[in-house]
Amino acid sequence: MTQPTEASPVPLDSPAEIVGRICDAILSRQRFVLTSHARPDGDSIGSQLAMAYALEALGKEVRLVNADAAPEHYFEFPGVDRIEIASQTTADGDAVIVMECSELARTGVSGFDGFIINIDHHAGNRMYGAVNWFDESAAACGEMVFDVINALGVPLTPEIATHIYLAILTDTGSFHHSNITPRTFDICRQAVEAGVNPAAMARRVYDSNSFGKLKLIGALLDDMELVDGGRLAVLQMDDSILETCGCTQNDTEGIINLPLTAREIRAVVFFKVGPNGEVRVSMRSKYDVDVRVVASEFGGGGHKNAAGCTVAGAIDALQKTFVEKILRAIDLQDAGTAIPHT
Ligand code: 5GP
Ligand code: MN
Repeated sequence: MTQPTEASPVPLDSPAEIVGRICDAILSRQRFVLTSHARPDGDSIGSQLAMAYALEALGKEVRLVNADAAPEHYFEFPGVDRIEIASQTTADGDAVIVMECSELARTGVSGFDGFIINIDHHAGNRMYGAVNWFDESAAACGEMVFDVINALGVPLTPEIATHIYLAILTDTGSFHHSNITPRTFDICRQAVEAGVNPAAMARRVYDSNSFGKLKLIGALLDDMELVDGGRLAVLQMDDSILETCGCTQNDTEGIINLPLTAREIRAVVFFKVGPNGEVRVSMRSKYDVDVRVVASEFGGGGHKNAAGCTVAGAIDALQKTFVEKILRAIDLQDAGTAIPHT
């Protein structure tokens, strides 16, 4: 997007203009590689596959390449088994469409070059593409993909609608986060009209735990620490808990949201200690508590209510640092707007 300067004010490109440029770039090309961020979530998978089905409806050739496999329960959704897993690839297409990545390195895949189309809603997007569409106000990247598909004139098939709905359902934290707008529901309405069954989607996404995962949830919540009268919850995990419960890293998805169901808890931080000393830090929050600011101090990112980063160091020292910073973020919100009840 062109930024205006003081000397020569240039009007910002409107979303419609950028979407138009993306459509031109797509319609004038034939072979596409679609990718998203490492450790993909529902928005990455949904955005990628909705786009894939739409491009194929236009007669385009599509490859999907990600650094990591999708969480197991997403394999029930159409096309997820088509995604190639690679840490390195050759961009042997006419364009690479990168969705959900604030920078190209977030893909975790090297070798993407040539003509890149960047579609993303994460604050701080580095505008690394030949065409860039960054809209922080989108509740999910899937909302933006919906706009592109619409502008391309491709009707919502049940497959496309399913993936758009999956993207929105998961990236809004099942309609909990603060960036939901009437437009979010308008897109969901269209997805439901195109054949999506919301009850079945919620069951598939949220009621697909293994018994091992239930045990893991029990173990992690049992160990949970409450800080500052319970305004902040701290979860911690290493591979030995996973082994004891018969789980993999993928089984940790969604657990971070559980402490937020306690009324007092305003934010949650989840430390996953890796085998080589690296620590994955995930954070979630309610209302205006901004955990993205904390993640970005450590080279990570995300959204106000859901953010993460990877750090190195002794877990005790890291915990102390993150707890202090998140408590400050909670205090900042408490000093600002009152918690909305409507
Ligand atoms: P999660 O905690 O589920 O891994 O991530 C929550 C949100 O933060 C997602 O939107 C994810 O894309 C973003 N995020 C997580 N880790 C990182 C990171 O290391 N860098 C950036 N830029 N974003 C991250
Ligand atoms: Mn997203």
